[in-house]
Amino acid sequence: MKFDTSMKTGTLVTFPGGALAGQGRIEFAAPCVNGWLVIADRTPVHPVSFRWPDQPADLGQITFADGVVVEIADAWTGLIDAGAGVLLIGEEAKAVRKGEGEWQGVVVHIVQSDRDLGAYIGEEARFTVEPRRRKALSVPHTAAHLAALALNAASVPFWTKDFADLDSLGRPNLDKAAIENSSIEPAVSTDVYRLGKSLRKKGFDRDGFLNNLETVGVEINGMIRRWLETNTLVSLTPSEGLLDGIRQWRCNLDGTEVIIPCGGTHVERLSDIGDVKITLAPSEEGFVMTTQAREA
Ligand SMILES: [Zn+2]
Repeated sequence: MKFDTSMKTGTLVTFPGGALAGQGRIEFAAPCVNGWLVIADRTPVHPVSFRWPDQPADLGQITFADGVVVEIADAWTGLIDAGAGVLLIGEEAKAVRKGEGEWQGVVVHIVQSDRDLGAYIGEEARFTVEPRRRKALSVPHTAAHLAALALNAASVPFWTKDFADLDSLGRPNLDKAAIENSSIEPAVSTDVYRLGKSLRKKGFDRDGFLNNLETVGVEINGMIRRWLETNTLVSLTPSEGLLDGIRQWRCNLDGTEVIIPCGGTHVERLSDIGDVKITLAPSEEGFVMTTQAREA
């Protein structure tokens, strides 16, 4: 979908700091087959990314200035080019290559309403996020970062050459080098890894690793259990900023501040996470790591 727009900048988002509610000025509202598309200058709502759609969108409500309340059924990432006055949503946004043009990300709230929501453009509204779903997605997302770090640590013995790209804990970053796809649902994160030829050339003993998946899994679970006992703070910085801004997940593990670039939402403390159980299974191209994580 393509629309004319007079919006000047991308959306300022407050979900990185954990916000569940906030005011925003309605900048755009238009009907489409999915319902109304509503964009504000500022929102706490985490939208699904079209570039790396691992974490699904927050749900919630918008309360307009006259008291009318609408349900947020989904939230997408759209792109605006303020100079050209163009807004792209869906397939048209996906078709834009990263770094191309002057595109800026916006949060597109999808809502169902019989009213003409265009009447609210220019007015303030209150955005609220459904907290249980946010938490149910944040818990496995934080756990998945721990699982990735533990995977890197447990796979150290399978590197036969020095690998230059290390994670914050100083281990070869197998997660980053091999991740092909990841998806988060309430209480579970699934990470799909590809162990291809180039990784083997760089010195990763694919067969040795795959023959020892069970031992590696035991080690990963032990390491995560130990980290979860520490009640460490988790943060995403900056806590608010433009949707396109680079954000970093930070958590002190084993005395080191671990930093991972991340666009999702997270728990405030590791003690917010209850039991975590990861399982590793071989796949045609490599392996799949499933991280089950419940709230404490
Ligand atoms: Zn993340």
